[in-house]
Amino acid sequence: MRIVVVGGVAGGMSAAARARRLNESAEIIVFEKGPDVSFANCGLPYHVGGDIQSREALLLHTPQTLDASLGLDVRVNTEVTAIDRAAKTVKVTGPQGTDVVSYDALVLSPGATAFTPPIPGMDLPQVTHLRTVDDATALAARVEGAQTAAVLGAGFIGLETAEALRERGLDVALIEMAPQVLPPLAPEMARLVELELRANGVDVVTGLAASAVAPAASGKGVTVTLSNGASADVDIVVVSVGVRPNSSLASDAGLAVDERGAILVDDEQRTDDPSIWAVGDAIAVRNQITGVTGPVPLAGPANRQGRRAAESIMGVAKPAKPVLGTAIVKVFGLTAAMTGASPRMLDQAGIEHVVHHTHHLNHAGYYPGADQVHLMAAFAPDGTLLGAQGVGRAGVDKRIDVLATSLRAGFGADDLAELELAYAPPFGSAKDPVNMLGFMMQ
Ligand code: FAD
Repeated sequence: MRIVVVGGVAGGMSAAARARRLNESAEIIVFEKGPDVSFANCGLPYHVGGDIQSREALLLHTPQTLDASLGLDVRVNTEVTAIDRAAKTVKVTGPQGTDVVSYDALVLSPGATAFTPPIPGMDLPQVTHLRTVDDATALAARVEGAQTAAVLGAGFIGLETAEALRERGLDVALIEMAPQVLPPLAPEMARLVELELRANGVDVVTGLAASAVAPAASGKGVTVTLSNGASADVDIVVVSVGVRPNSSLASDAGLAVDERGAILVDDEQRTDDPSIWAVGDAIAVRNQITGVTGPVPLAGPANRQGRRAAESIMGVAKPAKPVLGTAIVKVFGLTAAMTGASPRMLDQAGIEHVVHHTHHLNHAGYYPGADQVHLMAAFAPDGTLLGAQGVGRAGVDKRIDVLATSLRAGFGADDLAELELAYAPPFGSAKDPVNMLGFMMQ
């Protein structure tokens, strides 16, 4: 049996590794169009900021280590350019030229492409995205000698990039078209994040978009013009305004995609072709709470989907659970995290809900270092948990993980009230903030 995988990072490499563990004799070929496989996309901002100093630390594997440890045939700098579904072959272009490779099972994990807004100047050399190890290395090098930067987009990667550039000593303007930073957060939670950004010297601009980037009149850097006509000169522009699924390979082959271009799959990751599976940022998934389908570009789901695709190929898959969209970000000293549906998502889906906030301490107040955890949870009128968000300096990750687990379990307010969570003064309280959310809804 020959399994061909397109894309050698999160979802693709999970599929390849799981396939090998389930089948020692299958031939597994991974095509990756970039120079690196199995790299830590999520670590890229920390390389730019200097926390992760060496480029090599981001490279978790090489084709050689994957061959030695798992017997995978990994071919980098090799792009799959077409699928012939009738012949069950893919066309590839790489260092050896163009070739046609047959498959018994094909896994597509081509990821997503950073969106480039349709405004002038996006092709200037000072304008960059942060998607690959090479992007991170180039940006880290460009920061040397730069004094100012504009980051377009205050989503997860935009925030991490703004912090990284501040850590490197640049004056940073963070420009977000939405009326708040981190648009998936409820506005009152996002306000805390904005205050942290400002306290750390980031010039936060919300409610305005960049309308043009042009070479600066001074001859150094570029001028960024905003939708209200204001402008500023900066040395670097990082564009971080969302991603689009890389699905043209699939759609050109006639596989079904949704209106946003995300590949449609069943609950075993299979496309509408029984020999082709798809995973990761390129596919549409169903939200557990709202039932809305669309892309959710996160590493955890991509890894699990890759694993499931391999299990499906081997006939041992368990059906996928819908996605919760659990996500977390560090913003200087603050953590912001969320799971399930936000109040805005619930409004859009027409789902009735009640929202409660708590501002309890992360651990016993009499033990040194206690700090507030700002938690928000949305419940159905019958008490079923629908979603939660948290912002604070300590203990946010643990509460959101408990609440994500509770969502998966279908818990309600009574269950949260009864959760018996680890407690001693340095770690929590006898009545944990998660219990408090349950008490408030009871
Ligand atoms: P990718 O991991 O992007 O891999 C797709 C690969 O396919 C690419 O290497 C591409 O070159 C290759 N490819 C595409 N087309 C072809 C073709 N035709 N032929 C051959 N190869 C092809 N997620 C989190 O959950 N937490 C985080 O903290 C987080 N931080 C992030 C920070 C950054 C800077 C970035 C860029 C992403 C971050 N993510 C994070 C998102 C996470 O990395 C992605 O959701 C995940 O990598 C998606 O996996 P994937 O396999 O679908 O795509």
